[in-house]
Amino acid sequence: MSCNYAEGLSPYENKGKLGLPEEFDGEKEVDVKVDQLAEWIRGSKHTVIYTGAGVSTSAGIPDFRGPKGVWTLEEKGEKPDMNISWDDAKPTSTHMAIAKLAEEDKCKFVISQNIDGLHLRSGLPRSKLAELHGNMFVDECSVCKKMFVRSSAAPTVGRKMSEVSCKAQNRRPCRGKLRDFVLDWEDELPDEDLSLSHSHSMLSELSIVIGSTLQIIPAGNMPTFAKKNGKGILVIVNLQPTKHDKKADLIIRAFADKVFEKLFSKLGLKIPSYAEVSDPVKRLKMELEATIDWSQSNGLAKEWEKKCSKLEAELKKQRKVEKERKSREEFAIGQKQLQAKLKQEKLQIGKAQVKEENEDQKPPPVKIAKTEKDIKTEGTNGNGVHAK
Ligand SMILES: [Zn+2]
Repeated sequence: MSCNYAEGLSPYENKGKLGLPEEFDGEKEVDVKVDQLAEWIRGSKHTVIYTGAGVSTSAGIPDFRGPKGVWTLEEKGEKPDMNISWDDAKPTSTHMAIAKLAEEDKCKFVISQNIDGLHLRSGLPRSKLAELHGNMFVDECSVCKKMFVRSSAAPTVGRKMSEVSCKAQNRRPCRGKLRDFVLDWEDELPDEDLSLSHSHSMLSELSIVIGSTLQIIPAGNMPTFAKKNGKGILVIVNLQPTKHDKKADLIIRAFADKVFEKLFSKLGLKIPSYAEVSDPVKRLKMELEATIDWSQSNGLAKEWEKKCSKLEAELKKQRKVEKERKSREEFAIGQKQLQAKLKQEKLQIGKAQVKEENEDQKPPPVKIAKTEKDIKTEGTNGNGVHAK
């Protein structure tokens, strides 16, 4: 369970904000918000979904920072109630819905922080999934780095070596040993998964976060990358406040399963039921397959990196053009102001010269006493007629 995973990790002090209260939107509010989400999904050419522990709580796996989360309780010296083993946990309707969205190409990529393997077990293909913190149901070879699905959860965490030999057969068998693929706090994230996550996050037009408070970096910051390309929309589905709520275009405070049920009915789709025969873990157990390769493709990572670099170069160019336009504008404004100032100064110099010349030509002032007529015409237009 989450506990033996949590206990297997090294001690780590900074676990972020724990146990923040959960909030719930009203039924009608959820409806209106899911309508909006459905519209955005229909219009998006590149949707990326980010998942955290909140997508697996309905499978019986406790989260980490919720009111009853593993870290929240650990702080109080308590442990969460456990009612299921990793092997017995099944993908939730959220996992199954996400796999369906990927199949329908309504979701280009899924980036998960979960190690419970439920995305793998939902039938989501590896090419559409990055498992940034690892997977309980996957081993990795220490030599050739190939990954293989396990028929049951790994007995260790923190990338511990086992005595099991690598299953790769590239002309001759690989001599490497397998180790678990469950990362510890300070472990480096898997290269290809990280690269794919970065590329898809940059290219994303619609980023949907589900069940994460986004406190762990770099995974927690990736959903905000969509904001950099100028058209990205950020949606957060989470009960607790997250680190990036301020950047979100829409926040839905409701259970993920409920949101997906409503969403699918609005999209006219059906959430598929979980079937053991489509679950790679169970297929190995049933001996329907001998080995299942779960390696992330380096070629695919490079392919997306190229598309991302192209976009980043375009964005850089746009920023440069914008900067130049601004500085041209500022220059023009500066020139205008300078010209106006010069004109003003010229005018003043001219005035001063005229005044000087006039004063030179003026006869010496003669004091004349006001005549009676002068006094009379004061307040008139000078002709003795009173102005109207
Ligand atoms: Zn190997």
